[in-house]
Amino acid sequence: MAKLNCEISEHLQVALRERSKATGESIDRIVSNALARALEMPVHTLFQISTSGALVEGIYEKAVSSSLLLNYGDFGIGTFDNLDGEMVVLDGAIYQVRSNGTVTNIQDDTGTPFAVVVRFVADQDETIAKASSFEDLRSLCDKYRDSANLFYAVRVDGHFDHIHTRAMKATLDGLPLAQAAAIQPEFDFHDIDGTLVGIWAPEYSRSLNIAGYHFHFLSDDRTQGGHLLECSGKNLRVRVERLADFHLSLPESEEFLRADLTKDPSKDLAYAEQAHKKGDA
Ligand SMILES: [Zn+2]
Repeated sequence: MAKLNCEISEHLQVALRERSKATGESIDRIVSNALARALEMPVHTLFQISTSGALVEGIYEKAVSSSLLLNYGDFGIGTFDNLDGEMVVLDGAIYQVRSNGTVTNIQDDTGTPFAVVVRFVADQDETIAKASSFEDLRSLCDKYRDSANLFYAVRVDGHFDHIHTRAMKATLDGLPLAQAAAIQPEFDFHDIDGTLVGIWAPEYSRSLNIAGYHFHFLSDDRTQGGHLLECSGKNLRVRVERLADFHLSLPESEEFLRADLTKDPSKDLAYAEQAHKKGDA
């Protein structure tokens, strides 16, 4: 890191301090981001709200408001207060896919207990000729990752033969994720144009994030979506951004401060993230 020494006006300095106080961002970061934007340089930062471990423990109340999220990224995934659906952040807009299958463009300040966003600037732009399953797509996307130790944002656009998603149903704060995830309506879409918004997180980040790929789907007409469970398609455009900078914003709620976050959340997460057969608890 280099040090910058320069003179700025007093009112700029006051504004800078006020922004830092309001958002909790350091002055270094605000100046770096502003400079990067002015100089048209991409900042490859993954900005995360809360941890997957807190989610597993049932901490579903608002950590930040959705409008603040857009200050840190235009692309990402997450959930809403009380796990009310799946969040898709795409091209600077926030969408809520609810358990009744509806998709809403969130304009007002809706709270989120967990979200991961980036300013999407692709390092790679490729085409996948054919992905016959989600597993197939994941291994094809692996070719565009040059390390198992960084984070990656992955955007896949195109015509999908099949998409299978789920959307979490709003639940009570405090109900553990594994129980909340037992009731999650699933949806099937055929011959549909849309985008997969994905984050790949390294194995070592599993107490904070969801290790491996995590995709949410949104249709081109913004009427269908959800957390991706299965897919297939041809001639898919895949764009990948490598992320070597990680910013974690932790909640300061009483509930978070007192939660026991010493457990390994990966088993409960694996259960919550996959498709459930009827009768599963
Ligand atoms: Zn998800």
